[in-house]
Amino acid sequence: MPNDKTTILIVEDEPAIVELVSFTVKAAGWQPVTAQTTAEAWSCLQQKMPSLVLLDWMLPDQSGLKLLSRIRADHNFNAIPVIMLTAKGLEEDKIAGLDRGADDYVTKPFSPRELTARINALLRRNRPEHGMEVLKAGPLVLDQMSCSVSLNERKIDIGNAEYKLLKFLMAHPDRVFSRSQLLDKVWGQHVEIEERTVDVHVLRLRKALKDAEFLIKTVRSMGYMLSEK
Ligand code: CA
Repeated sequence: MPNDKTTILIVEDEPAIVELVSFTVKAAGWQPVTAQTTAEAWSCLQQKMPSLVLLDWMLPDQSGLKLLSRIRADHNFNAIPVIMLTAKGLEEDKIAGLDRGADDYVTKPFSPRELTARINALLRRNRPEHGMEVLKAGPLVLDQMSCSVSLNERKIDIGNAEYKLLKFLMAHPDRVFSRSQLLDKVWGQHVEIEERTVDVHVLRLRKALKDAEFLIKTVRSMGYMLSEK
C-alpha cells in the first residue's frame, strides 16, 4: 500500500454530491472510488482497502450507520477512518454517529476546503508513517526516525516487539484492539504466535514504560488500548 495512491471510498447516492466530493478528492491528489449503496460499498471494501471512507447517512438500501457498525465490527476494516457526510445537523445524530465509531462528521453543505482539511487530518492521524515521524502520548515520545522512545525526554530501553506494539497503539489512540487484531496489525497475519503472547508483550511494554505504563489500558474481555484519559 505505501506507494499506492491514497484511495478514498465515497458512499453517497446523490449524484451532485458524488460529483462534488469526487472532484474534491481528486483535486487533493487522492483516488476516489464511489458506491451508491451500502451493499456496493461493502463489495468495494473487499476489493481494495481504502485509506478512508466518506459515508452518507441516508442511503437507498440501508442507513450509513448500519454500514459503519459493520465496518467497526470487522477486524479487517475497523481501523479505517470514517467521516460521516450528512444533511442532518442535529446533535443527537452526531452523537449516534460518533458512538458507533465515526471518526469525524461533516454536515452538508460543506466546502471542498473544509472536507479536504478533515480528510487530511484523519489520514495524518492514521498513517503516521506518511507525515508524522514523531508520535506523542502524555510524557511519551516515539521517534520513528531513530526508532527510539523517550519518557520525559529520557530514552528508555524497549524491545523490538514492544516498540512495534507501542508504535501501533500510539498511531491509533483511544481505540480498543483485540489480541488477534494486534497480532494481525503488529506482527502480520502470517506470523504464528498465540494470542497469549500479546499479553506477554503488553506486560513487557508496561514495564519498559515505567511511569507511563498507565497509558496502556486493559479493556476487559476486549483487548488493549492506548489512552491518556
Ligand atoms: Ca443520501
